[in-house]
Amino acid sequence: MALILLKVKQYTRKDFIKLTTAAGAAFYLSACGLNNDKSKPAKTAAGAAVPEKPAHGDSPSAHIDLVDKNDPRYNALRAGFNKRIDKRPKLIALCTSTAEVAAAVRYAHDKGLPIAVKSGGHSMEGFSCNDGGMVINLSKMDAVELLHDSKIKVGPGCTISDLYDTILPHGRLLPAGSCATVAIGGLTLGGGYGICARKFGLTCDHLVEATMVDGNGNIHSTKDDAELMWALKGGGTGNFGIVTEMTFTTHPAPPTLQAHYFKARKLTPDRAASILQTWMELAPQLPDSCFSGYVLNGGTLNILITNYEPENEQLPQLLKKLAAVVDEFRSSHTGTLQRMLRNYYGVGKPLYFRNSSAGFFKGYTDVAPFIKDIFEKVIATPGMIYQVNTLGGKINDAAAEKLSSYPHRAYDFVSELQAYASAPSQDSRQADATSQILKIIEQHGIARQYVNYCSTEFSNWEHAYYGDNYPRLQAIKRKYDPNDNIRHPQSVRG
Ligand SMILES: Cc1cc2nc3c(=O)[nH]c(=O)nc-3n(C[C@H](O)[C@H](O)[C@H](O)COP(=O)(O)OP(=O)(O)OC[C@H]3O[C@@H](n4cnc5c(N)ncnc54)[C@H](O)[C@@H]3O)c2cc1C
Repeated sequence: MALILLKVKQYTRKDFIKLTTAAGAAFYLSACGLNNDKSKPAKTAAGAAVPEKPAHGDSPSAHIDLVDKNDPRYNALRAGFNKRIDKRPKLIALCTSTAEVAAAVRYAHDKGLPIAVKSGGHSMEGFSCNDGGMVINLSKMDAVELLHDSKIKVGPGCTISDLYDTILPHGRLLPAGSCATVAIGGLTLGGGYGICARKFGLTCDHLVEATMVDGNGNIHSTKDDAELMWALKGGGTGNFGIVTEMTFTTHPAPPTLQAHYFKARKLTPDRAASILQTWMELAPQLPDSCFSGYVLNGGTLNILITNYEPENEQLPQLLKKLAAVVDEFRSSHTGTLQRMLRNYYGVGKPLYFRNSSAGFFKGYTDVAPFIKDIFEKVIATPGMIYQVNTLGGKINDAAAEKLSSYPHRAYDFVSELQAYASAPSQDSRQADATSQILKIIEQHGIARQYVNYCSTEFSNWEHAYYGDNYPRLQAIKRKYDPNDNIRHPQSVRG
C-alpha cells in the first residue's frame, strides 16, 4: 500500500481545487481519465497501452489470450482506475468475443478459479479484479454499431468518450455518464446517470437486448428471458453473468449545451448547509433538460447547472435565485453537445482515491439533521469532496421502475463522498473521515446507496443497493450461477 502511495503524483490541495474547477465545474473532473485512441491495439481498462502477445500456452482454446503474472502485460491489465486497489489474479482472460468469454468461464470453472468481470475498471472498490482467480477482461470488446432503427449495439468495454464520439456525429444520443474512461458495461448494469438522464432516463432504461454468459459458460439472450432483462437493468454488476453485447435505443441528440457555474469560497458548515438548502429547493424545479451538481471541495463550493434546451422561460429566474446566495456566477457560451461534453471527460489517468455513495435523498429535510456535521468533517479534511447530483424527471418513471431492478426511482438526489490522497498520512485521515461520515448518514436512517458508487463500508449493502428487489435478484443468481463462480465481495448471493 505504501509503495503504491509513493508512486502516486503528489497532489496538493491547490491541485485538487484546480482539477475540480477546471472548465468551471467539478463534476467528476478530479477522478476522471481520457484516452480514446482506438488505434492502439490493446488498452487496459485504465487506458494504458499494453504490448500485443500471442495466446498463452495453457490457453483453453487457441483463441483465448490468457495473461499470467509472467506476462509483460499483466500489471497494466490487472490495474483499475483506483490505484488504492492492488489485487493479483492468477489469470486474466483478454476476450474478444462471446464465444471466448464462454470458453474462459468454463476453463475457470474447471480450474476452480473464482471469476471477476472487468469492462472499464472503474469499480470504486476494485470489484472487477480479484486475488488468485480469473479476471475476464472485456476492454477489447468495445465496438459500437449503428443499427437501422435508431438502435445501437455496443460492446461492454466501450468507453463513454468512444461511445459519444461515435454516435453524436450521427445525431444520436444514449444518455450515459460523464467520465471519458468509464465503460458502458459497468455503468449500464448498475443504472447509469448523467447530464441527460432527467429528460431521457438512466442508461439501463435504454437497454433493449443483451447477451450474457452465465456462471457455467452457457450463452443466453434476454430475448428469451424478461426476468433476466429486468435483473440486468441495475442489478447486473458482476453478480451472475458476463454481459458481452448490449443493444440500446437512442434519442435524437440535442444539438447544443450550455453550462452555468456558481461558486462560494471559505465556507463554514452553516453557510454550506444554507446554500445546499436553497439549491435542493430550486433543483427539482429545473427543467428536465438540466442537470445540476453541488460540489463542496474543502471550504470551496462549486455548483454546475447544464442545460440543452435553450428556449426555457423558468431557467433564468432559477439561476438568478441561486446566484443571489453564492459569491460568483457565470454562464458558458452555448457549444455543440459533443464539444461541451468533453468539458466533463476529466483528467488523464488512474488516481489514488476513495469514492463512495453517500445516500439518496428526496429533499433537504432528509439531510438537515446531520449535514452540518458532515460539512465540518469535509471542510477539515484535506482532499475530501462531498457531492450531490440531481436525479428526478424521467428517472422516476413508474414504467421504467417496473422494468428494471434499479430501485431508487423515488429519490431526486444522489450524493457521494470523494477523497483524493497525496500521502499515506492523508489517506488514513481521509479513511477515518469517510467512515465517520458514512456512519453519521447510516445512523440517521439513510439506507439507500448507489451500487455504482459501491463501498465495503455499507453493513447492509444488499438492501442499500437493491432495496426490496434483492430476493428477486437472488433467484436470478440461483438460476444462472448456482455455484457462485462469478463473484466479488458484494455480489448477489444465491
Ligand atoms: C471517475 C468516475 C466517474 C464516474 N462517473 C459516473 C457517472 O457520471 N454516472 C454514473 O452513473 N456512474 C459514474 N461512475 C460510476 C461508474 O458507473 C461505475 O464505477 C461503473 O461500475 C464502472 O463501470 P466500468 O465498466 O468502468 O468498471 P468495472 O470496474 O470494469 O466494472 C464495475 C462493476 O461492474 C461489473 N461489470 C463490468 N462489466 C460487466 C459485464 N460486462 N458483465 C457483468 N458485470 C460487469 C464488474 O464486475 C464490477 O463489479 C463513475 C466512476 C468513476 C470512477
